[in-house]
Amino acid sequence: MTCVLVPRERRAGEHRVAATPETVKRLIARGCALIVESGAGLAAGFADGDYRDAGATLLDPRAADAQARWRDADVILSVQGASLAEAEPGLNQLRPGALLIGLLEPHANTALLEALQRQRLSALALELLPRISRAQTMDVLSSQANVAGYKAVLLAAAALDRYVPMLMTAAGTIQPARALILGAGVAGLQALATARRLGAVVVVSDVRPAAKEQVESLGGRFLEPPQLEQNPTEQGGYAQQASEAFLAAQRQQLAEQLAQSDMVICTAQVPGRPAPRLIDDAMLAGMRPGAVVVDLAVAQGGNCEGTRPGETVLRHGVQLIGAEALPSSVAHHASALYARNLAALLEHLLGAGTDGSPLALDLEDPIVSGCLFSHAADAAAPAAGATTGASPERQPVGGAA
Ligand code: NAD
Repeated sequence: MTCVLVPRERRAGEHRVAATPETVKRLIARGCALIVESGAGLAAGFADGDYRDAGATLLDPRAADAQARWRDADVILSVQGASLAEAEPGLNQLRPGALLIGLLEPHANTALLEALQRQRLSALALELLPRISRAQTMDVLSSQANVAGYKAVLLAAAALDRYVPMLMTAAGTIQPARALILGAGVAGLQALATARRLGAVVVVSDVRPAAKEQVESLGGRFLEPPQLEQNPTEQGGYAQQASEAFLAAQRQQLAEQLAQSDMVICTAQVPGRPAPRLIDDAMLAGMRPGAVVVDLAVAQGGNCEGTRPGETVLRHGVQLIGAEALPSSVAHHASALYARNLAALLEHLLGAGTDGSPLALDLEDPIVSGCLFSHAADAAAPAAGATTGASPERQPVGGAA
């Protein structure tokens, strides 16, 4: 039987949880035993009693046997998995061969990789899950970006000094707010849909030509990227890093749009690289006072000059909101979706059986090899953000490595 542990999240401000009573039931039906740390779901609106009713065993982290129970775990489901490296109980209490699944900030996270390998633990970094159709149900980046795009527009609307929709009143007509969205990935498209539902007129910029059709189908106007000799290419649906010459041309194009915008939602990103700088100080000075910029890329350096993670700053009369941790601020539904993603991944790893046979990592499976961050059977450390390159095999999880 596969024993699955769901710890309380350790990172300050993280309100999500990696399993909900619904997914606990789902995994028990697949032959797993679930241990949930007490209080794990409280900040997301899931009470201990709901987990108990769903069939989980609750674990009090202060109980005398708490550390021993961590050693029972074959699989640990987490949101901010990287924070378990310093936690007590945490990775140190796990037995060799256990599998950690979560957001592991895998790009250049050598400290976590070393901790995992010291303990001989396997780990799947959900940031690296391949964006292929059969992994769509497991795609946490999409489910959480969707929440972030929605919430970013609500933050902008709440901070704005004007209505969003067009209104015809006895006192005259109010024109609709104008929104500019940078980046038409998952977050940007959800921001577009949300801003349109509120009644804004929306313009969207992206460097991927494929984004045009999606933007138009949601009622937005697509800004064609500047045509230079070397436009950023696309790989696997992701934009590649743009040259400085391209970004300069893009900023010139955006300056005109910004001057007419009331709210700007920044979502432009290039995986594993700093976010492209699309708004500089001079462009902010050209915006109207009272406008709002919500920068979802702030953790990667931001699309907008001057944004700071978790802070709102005023620059040239424009409010800059460094939107960090937005999915955590919609913790109930963000957790519900995240937990379903993880349940789908775990069910995939468990294979076809419902008899509780031990979970195995199939290194030939592109879903596994794509997001394998550490492999207990590996003597050599895999490169962060890359597959292990280990010889194909089916490696039991939970046994000694
Ligand atoms: P992301 O968070 O990496 O980037 C957000 C957007 O920023 C992307 O659309 C990117 O093109 C854009 N961008 C990068 N540089 C820019 C610049 N200089 N100016 C303007 N925009 C810029 O992307 P994401 O939301 O993770 O999605 C990336 C792609 O993956 C999309 O095509 C999406 O439809 C696709 N996707 C596929 C699957 C699947 O098949 N399972 C799942 C999710 C997303």
